[in-house]
Amino acid sequence: MILPEPIQNLITALSRLPGVGPKTASRLAFYLLRAPEDISRDLAEALHALKTSTGYCQTCFNITTAGRVECEICTSAERSGSLLCVVEEPLDVLALERTTGFQGRYHVLHGVLSPIEGVGPDDLKVRELIERIRAGGVEEVVLATNPSLEGDATAMYLQQQIHPLGVRVTRLARGLPMGGDLEYADPNTLLRALTGRQEMD
Ligand SMILES: [Zn+2]
Repeated sequence: MILPEPIQNLITALSRLPGVGPKTASRLAFYLLRAPEDISRDLAEALHALKTSTGYCQTCFNITTAGRVECEICTSAERSGSLLCVVEEPLDVLALERTTGFQGRYHVLHGVLSPIEGVGPDDLKVRELIERIRAGGVEEVVLATNPSLEGDATAMYLQQQIHPLGVRVTRLARGLPMGGDLEYADPNTLLRALTGRQEMD
C-alpha cells in the first residue's frame, strides 16, 4: 500500500526517535490522523516551542528558557556556589532536584568520556568546568556521573584535572546500581548516595 506523502513523512520522522520502531511510528501516525485535531495541534506546537523557546544556561549548561543567559538555579541566591555537582545530562539535574537534598549548583557535561565512541574531553563541557572552578568560590565538586564504566572513568579523569586546583573532590556513594542511570534511581537511594558521598583520592 502506498501511503499519502504527509502520513509517510510523519512515520519517517517518528521512527527516527529513540525507542520507536517503524511499527510504533505507523501506529502513532494513524492514531493522530483519526484523533481530534487539538491533539495533533498541541503536539505540533509543543514540538515547535521545544527548540525555539529553550536554550542552555551559559554557566552550568542545563536547559533553560530561551533568552536567559543563566538558569534559575545559577541565579538563585538560595543556592550555594561553593558546592558544585557535576552530572552527565540535564535529566540528571532533574533527578537530583527531586531528592530536594542538594542546595548547591550544577555543571552539565553533556555526555561522558567514551574512547570507543570517540568522545574526548573537548566534546564535553570540561574546559568550561575547569574555568568555573578556576574563577574561584567553589570549595567542593561532587562528581555525580552515572555508576557505569564510562561514568567512573569520567569521574577519575575529572578528579585528576580538579585535584591540582586545591578543591575538594567527592564522588556519589556506592549503592546506586552499577551500570544504572541517575535518571531512573529512586529519590531516596539517590539522596543516600549524595549525603554519603566520599572523598576521591
Ligand atoms: Zn545554570
